[in-house]
Formats: sequence, C-alpha cells, structure tokens
Amino acid sequence: MTERDKRILFDFVDACLLPRCPICTLVQRAEQRTLAVYCAEGAGDQQRRADVRAARGLCAPHGAQLRDAKDAMAAAVTAYDVLTNLQRDLVAVRSNPRTWGRRGIARPEPCPVCVDMQRYNRAVCAGIVAWSADLSLQQALANSHGICGPHLRTISRHTGVADEFWGAQSHAWQRLHDELGEFIRKRDDRFRHERQASEADAWKRAWHQISGDVLNDITKE
Ligand SMILES: [Zn+2]
Ligand SMILES: [Zn+2]
Repeated sequence: MTERDKRILFDFVDACLLPRCPICTLVQRAEQRTLAVYCAEGAGDQQRRADVRAARGLCAPHGAQLRDAKDAMAAAVTAYDVLTNLQRDLVAVRSNPRTWGRRGIARPEPCPVCVDMQRYNRAVCAGIVAWSADLSLQQALANSHGICGPHLRTISRHTGVADEFWGAQSHAWQRLHDELGEFIRKRDDRFRHERQASEADAWKRAWHQISGDVLNDITKE
C-alpha cells in the first residue's frame, strides 16, 4: 500500500463531511489544482500549452475556470497562442474555398483538462474500490450525503466492491430520501406550521446526488 493509495482514503473520508458527493469534491479539487498550477507556472508548461493549442482552447466550463482564475497573464499568454492557431484555421479555410460547406475547420483535440480529469476520475474510483472494505471509509460514507449517481455507476462497473460499501451508500441515500419525504410532507397545509429542520435543503442536496457536480465528459467511460 503506497502513501498515494492511503491519501485517497484520507481525502475521501475528509470529503464525506461536505453535503455533496465526495468523489465529485475530489475531482473538482483536482481540476482547480490543475489550473492553479498551470497559472502559477505562468503558463510555462510547454506540453500543456501544446495540448491547449491542439484543442484550440479549453471546453466552455474549463475555459471559464481559467478566466476566473484571476491570473491575467497566464490567461492572456494562453489565449494569444490559441488565437494564433484559430487565425491559421481561418486562413486555411479561406485559401481553399472549394471545401466550404464540406470539410470546414478540422475538429480539434479534446480539452486537455477534461482528458486529465477523466484519468484522475478513473484512478480515484479504482482507489475507492480498493478501500471499499475499510471500516472508516464505510462509516464516513454512511454518514455522508452519498456518492452521486454518475460516480456510483462508474464504481458499479468494478469487481471486488465490498457488500458493506453498498450498504453504507444505501444508508446515506435512505436518509436523504426520508428528508425529501419530510420536506414534501411539511408543504401540506396541515403541517405547514411545523418548523423546517435538516430537510429544508434536501431537494438541493438530492439534485447534487442525482446529477453529480462534475462534467458528463469526465465521468464518461
Ligand atoms: Zn460524484
Ligand atoms: Zn474541459
């Protein structure tokens, strides 16, 4: 068991304290780290720059994250690169008018942050499966809001998941299901006078659980 393997267990248990899918939390932290490191290096990672050029930028959500990273220089240098290549695409299309309406501009490579996050997502899911028989992981999961639908489907494709792991997930979802029922019950005129408790935001948490919080492309196998 390597330190990195143990890190996944600790990070997962820690992420279970938040009111959302712990795996989505880990993937989103990794996304933020990836872009923060890229910016901190002043967009000096030449391989990453080449990947961004080949992708003609980043997908809309990752582009927005780079824009919001508040590192104007890294964003400017990267955008300069990308626009240089977009201009070349335009020149190529204009210089070959007979292909208008037929081939157009070649499809770029996929967003490099999405590609990295797909890889990370697979590694985290596999790491959690490897720890699925661990009691501390099961307890953290049972007391959490549960793993989201997309991540649960990914984990279900693995073999060797401990049965108690599914039990812990079921426990988490049952609590959420009960809270939703309670929220709906208190909307009834007969019970409106009852104060809202932990179920007040159950509908929001339920939608984190149903759809997850990471891009569809990242959880796609
Ligand atoms: Zn998730
Ligand atoms: Zn992306």
